[in-house]
Amino acid sequence: MAWKRLLTLTRRSHRPLSTTASRSFSDAAVSTSSPIAPPTPPPPTAMIYDRLAESVKSKIKILENPDPRFLKYGSPHPTLKTHTHILSSPETRITTLPNGLRVATESNLASKTATVGVWIDAGSRFESDETNGTAHFLEHMIFKGTEKRSVKELEEEIENMGGHLNAYTSREQTTYYAKVMDKDVNKALDILADILQNSTFDEERMSRERDVITMEMKEVEGQTEEVIFDHLHATAFQYSPLARTILGPAKNIETISRDDIRNYIQTHYTAPRMVIVASGAVKHEEFVGEVKKLFTKLSSDPNHCFTVSCQGPCIFYWL
Ligand SMILES: [Zn+2]
Repeated sequence: MAWKRLLTLTRRSHRPLSTTASRSFSDAAVSTSSPIAPPTPPPPTAMIYDRLAESVKSKIKILENPDPRFLKYGSPHPTLKTHTHILSSPETRITTLPNGLRVATESNLASKTATVGVWIDAGSRFESDETNGTAHFLEHMIFKGTEKRSVKELEEEIENMGGHLNAYTSREQTTYYAKVMDKDVNKALDILADILQNSTFDEERMSRERDVITMEMKEVEGQTEEVIFDHLHATAFQYSPLARTILGPAKNIETISRDDIRNYIQTHYTAPRMVIVASGAVKHEEFVGEVKKLFTKLSSDPNHCFTVSCQGPCIFYWL
């Protein structure tokens, strides 16, 4: 993983520094006890600080005639920014439950709506070559019925609330969220808890979904910005999990099994790697109480995503 490598490099860079430091201390000790006169300081023109200042000055001079390409989205000149809008937004309150599940809210009781979601530290980077595409396949299948709700019932329930239920999978995160009216917050949370803990992953539905995902893959292949990012990951993180695509190769879309999905959810949808989030018309304590009641089946495996990432580190190739 890039972080691990960076940390190693940092650790490596510390060693010579401390050696130099100890050497210079002992040199100083020798020179104070020595009767020889101290060396004369180098002329000011040779001082490294002056040379650096000159190079900085020449760089600043470039800004007098900035390249218009770099001004397209912003100015290289520092400007005064106000952060009042951040300070005026509601306080984020976080409660960690005994199983490691975090609940975060931003309460705004003047609002008539709320967004309720589940953010999970799980994505395509936690797959193998054989299972690449499982996280995304799971995201599709999670809306295809639970032990107590059929697909139709699930869709109708959201429709009757006038709500909006959506999800996305990235390389390092998967998210499920619902936007609803204030009175429907608990219902939305119940749906999220149900799909995350009781989805049935029906085999017949899975085979239908293979066609949907294959179509999606073809669509993605036609979008330049998606293809560029996939190629960028494939190049920058060669031979490591981040190099793979999120949707996975066509052969995996055909072969990913119900067991792959169940294994993925069991291993990665654990309480310490999840945050249940709500913003808008919610009260923190009430929301935490509901989460406690509903999210009872999650694994409390203490492995954090950082620990799991270290099992399949991603190396960033910059040379
Ligand atoms: Zn999709």
